[in-house]
Amino acid sequence: MLVGDGALQFALSQGFQKENLLLEASEKEWKEWLKTSEYLPKANIENHDTIGMIALDAQGNLSGACTTSGMAFKMHGRVGDSPIIGAGLYVDNEIGAATATGHGEEVIRITGCHLVVELMRQGKSPQKACEEAVMRIVKLTQNRGKNLKDIQVGFIALNKKGEYGSYCVQGGFNYAVHDATGNKLIDANYFLK
Ligand code: ASP
Repeated sequence: MLVGDGALQFALSQGFQKENLLLEASEKEWKEWLKTSEYLPKANIENHDTIGMIALDAQGNLSGACTTSGMAFKMHGRVGDSPIIGAGLYVDNEIGAATATGHGEEVIRITGCHLVVELMRQGKSPQKACEEAVMRIVKLTQNRGKNLKDIQVGFIALNKKGEYGSYCVQGGFNYAVHDATGNKLIDANYFLK
């Protein structure tokens, strides 16, 4: 995995152009943040943008992908969960697939999506597997004496039979399902009620 300067150097060597994609409004917000430069992710502040997709095709093959800019106002050089296979995304074509969104630090701490897939391998439904992974985050957060209200993580999972499920630390996430019957937008169930 290449990150930071090494990734930039490699991209330039492959012919990519360096471009500034920062919008004026975002630059203003960022400069404001630089005054304190505190990295304090909060739950349900929409300053992150991970999109994770998991799919089962007509031949019964599973796949998955995710994309993100990571959390906004992060420490320089931070790597989130999304690019780390097993953390923000994991697919095992024999068992199932899972992807995550929310505070990447918490997902990495439990190798979240690998855990969800391994729980499905042990016979748990996608729903139960997501719930158990979230409960592990809940327990670790409590053991570390942190306030669960400051943490948000959500998982979605799909198994080889096409069953799916989702669970989050707190409310605020929804996910879309597309199957032969059409499209649905579902509010994910959550722990902190
Ligand atoms: N999981 C991402 C990260 O921690 C943030 C997101 O869900 O958008 O970088």
